Amino acid sequence: MNSAIGAWSHDGERRVYDSVIVGAGVSGLLAAYELLRLRPGARVLLIDAGLPLERRRKQATSPTGGYGGAGLFLGGRLYLGAATLPVTAPVTAPVELRPVISGEAYLRRANEVDGLLQDLGAQAKWQPQPPEPLAQAIARAALVGIEYVTSYPSRLLSLEDKQVALGALRARLEPQGARFLMQEEVAEVAREGAAYALALRAVPAADDVTPPAVPARLFARTLLLAPGRYGTEWLRQAALALGAEVAALPTTFGVRLEVHAAVYDSLTDVNPDPRLQMTVAGDALLKTYATCPGGVVAPTTRYGALVASGIPQLARERRGATTTVAILAQPGVEGARGAWRGGEDCARLLNMRAPGRLIVQRLGDARRQQATTMQALAANSVQPSDPTAQPDALHDAYPDAFWAAFEQFLQRLDQLMPGVTHDDTLLYGPAEERFWGFPTDDLLQTTAPGLFVAGDGAGQSQGIIQASVAGLLAGEGMARALASETTHRAQ
Ligand SMILES: Cc1cc2nc3c(=O)[nH]c(=O)nc-3n(C[C@H](O)[C@H](O)[C@H](O)COP(=O)(O)OP(=O)(O)OC[C@H]3O[C@@H](n4cnc5c(N)ncnc54)[C@H](O)[C@@H]3O)c2cc1C
Repeated sequence: MNSAIGAWSHDGERRVYDSVIVGAGVSGLLAAYELLRLRPGARVLLIDAGLPLERRRKQATSPTGGYGGAGLFLGGRLYLGAATLPVTAPVTAPVELRPVISGEAYLRRANEVDGLLQDLGAQAKWQPQPPEPLAQAIARAALVGIEYVTSYPSRLLSLEDKQVALGALRARLEPQGARFLMQEEVAEVAREGAAYALALRAVPAADDVTPPAVPARLFARTLLLAPGRYGTEWLRQAALALGAEVAALPTTFGVRLEVHAAVYDSLTDVNPDPRLQMTVAGDALLKTYATCPGGVVAPTTRYGALVASGIPQLARERRGATTTVAILAQPGVEGARGAWRGGEDCARLLNMRAPGRLIVQRLGDARRQQATTMQALAANSVQPSDPTAQPDALHDAYPDAFWAAFEQFLQRLDQLMPGVTHDDTLLYGPAEERFWGFPTDDLLQTTAPGLFVAGDGAGQSQGIIQASVAGLLAGEGMARALASETTHRAQ
């Protein structure tokens, strides 16, 4: 696909596209689809740092980026229930982040995406209700005061469904004018006159003999940034550089738990990543995040800090002895100014205490407010899956509100999976998630004219269908922006 970057117009010496879309995940792809439906023949270029579909299919490991992005290539469950974009949590939000779509209008768009995927060959069965084991897990959680987050109706695409639909979508977009530039990362963006300028950097794969020859700079009349969850920091910097407003959201922070896999089995057997949550006093949400059955804890650098991440083990037969899950507190803007103040400093404090390593503490020691020693860890029944983690103290680095809410959440979880509150349960810190909000109009144009944002990276969505709906909106927004630019020029 790298050779096919034609279809630009001349503006002096510059190659100018009508629209450049950064990210060929579902939000970028659906934006291209909608834009070309409304403006056939528009010169549209999609750029993605990952591999094209054919090469992704042959890979042994599965990075989250490339043609199809994360969810539609790796996952495949389509959640077709109601939603609001940007996704909301039951905590206070910055006033500038108002909903852009919800209710019937959202459902109409979601059904449109589902219809398109079926038309492209993804014919998986419609499931109106959760299957019985999941329905029971949801009911059991509700009985102990925990919300089990899920969404129905849904449709679970098979591997074949996904690959067929992704291939057919590209085959539909290309004749309409879309061009793809894969294995190219957009390194920098700038405003130059009326256009957006993009500087690219090749991302050769290990088996590439000659890196693709591409122009180092491209120009766009309208620009959509759709870089996904793992591109959110890049998106923030790019949007700021282009003069768009960006709203900081309070840091979501907490610890990563590690327990004997058998403790979590009753939940992870039904769903490998059950998302459980409860609201707590002082304007915050406590939630499980990224459960990894039989997986390991991995130190990862994110947002300039070393944080505890989890690596899942998808193959059942290869699962390890422990399951790890993050327990995070997500304060609202008011909570972060009140009882939850200080959460944003935990990562920095803990990284200073153990430079280059995570800290691990036994739950029993955290409760007694004593550091875990090397000897205590060696004798612990749950052994750390991250052998580099330093036994020490976490309890004194978090706001008091965290431990009170954490204990309350854990007691409830213990009713669902007895044993999780055992003294030998391990806690790793820091764990952290950061999000930024991007104020937009209803068609996802930011406060910088001609600049659009869509998908998980912009904090608008948390799933395939939501990100696709965001893509449709941005596609329509770009089509309108191009139409009004053309009208102005003609006048
Ligand atoms: C393993 C996994 C399984 C999942 N399963 C499901 C599921 O079953 N159902 C569901 O609803 N959701 C699922 N999700 C969530 C879902 O993946 C996301 O909600 C969805 O993919 C978001 O789409 P997006 O277009 O915003 O971003 P992405 O799909 O993440 O796509 C973003 C793309 O942008 C590219 N990119 C980023 N930065 C740059 C740059 N600077 N230059 C060039 N390219 C760039 C990336 O390479 C990537 O291909 C899953 C997520 C993961 C990680």
